[in-house]
Amino acid sequence: MTPSTTGCVLPVRPELADEVPYGAPQLDVPVLLNVNENPYPPSEEVVASIAAAVADAARGLNRYPDREFRTLRTALAAYLAREAGVTGLDADHLWAANGSNEVMLHLLQAFGGPGRTALSFAPTYSMYPEYARDTNTGWVAGRREEDFTLDPDAAVRLLREVRPAVVLLPSPNNPTGTALPLETVRTLLAAARTTGPDGPDGAPTASVVVVDEAYAEFRRAGTPSALTLLAEHPHLAVTRTMSKAFGMAGARLGYLAAAPALVDALRVVRLPYHLSAVTQAVALAALAHTDALMAQVASLREERDGLVAWLAAQGLQVVPSDANFVLFGTFEARHEVWQQLLDRGVLIREVGPPGWLRVSVGTPEETRTFCEALADVLRGPGEGREA
Ligand SMILES: *Cc1c(COP(=O)(O)O)cnc(C)c1O
Repeated sequence: MTPSTTGCVLPVRPELADEVPYGAPQLDVPVLLNVNENPYPPSEEVVASIAAAVADAARGLNRYPDREFRTLRTALAAYLAREAGVTGLDADHLWAANGSNEVMLHLLQAFGGPGRTALSFAPTYSMYPEYARDTNTGWVAGRREEDFTLDPDAAVRLLREVRPAVVLLPSPNNPTGTALPLETVRTLLAAARTTGPDGPDGAPTASVVVVDEAYAEFRRAGTPSALTLLAEHPHLAVTRTMSKAFGMAGARLGYLAAAPALVDALRVVRLPYHLSAVTQAVALAALAHTDALMAQVASLREERDGLVAWLAAQGLQVVPSDANFVLFGTFEARHEVWQQLLDRGVLIREVGPPGWLRVSVGTPEETRTFCEALADVLRGPGEGREA
């Protein structure tokens, strides 16, 4: 219970009483490689389009926005069709919200709740347990293997035991950068048809399987998207975001593709008019520049592969990455390494299993600064790298 200055006590939910707001440190440092943003700001051409679209939207701000935002949903479907080579997606299969974080919250509001459980496999995205807590959904984290792969048989056993309403599978995973083989996702989807909580008639429902593809555009050649599995799986949702590859983290636009019946369940729980007219205008304007915005993705992928090779050449352990970040280690005293990099003007992320650190892929200049700083730290006195 939280005492206030006037002496009464706020009825904060007991499970929130000792919680603090979550978030990576937002520090003013020359080289920011800590939250997997795209290091390239939008071009002046994209900025001009967005500004014009926002001006247009501003003329109608006396009205509530289009609650169903079908124009944006259609544009997102077209983008996905093109990016992943899938057919048959239209506005009815798409949903969007203020970041894929809010999309995830909608999923848990619609399918989680008291007496229900969300399941993921650690190490996994650190926000998931927060959405579970906020929606009164139980939270279970199974384990990935030592090399961060997922054993499909063990995962299926856990699904049968936990009977989760929602299974959260980031792929490429954050913080490890590893993508799940499509075969693993298929195996889990097959089992998940009957591993959900009991339905009103006592028969088991499905677990909703969420493949969080926030980093999908960075996947290496030959790694397919789970979007290709949508047509056969009514209990699959594939989430995406404009925050990472698309370079629009500040716009707050996340989305998902799923069967229309699943999308309809999300439409029930969203706040009315949750997606502002300005957000819709910005996202549509940015999507019209897909080619330009995606041009950097190829160079970021190359930059990533170079960074993986450089880290390995320093004798460090490096996890193969399909994302725009790399997990490396291991350090006896990772916090000291993190701090010494920060002292040299480079902010990375202290996240993941003990001993590991995560660095986002920046511009070539930023990557060079990071490499020089890390080489310096590794050389320096008192560094605690494991033998
Ligand atoms: C960054 C990230 C997201 C995206 O969050 P937004 O709310 O869309 O900015 C989603 N999932 C994972 C695993 C992420 O790392």
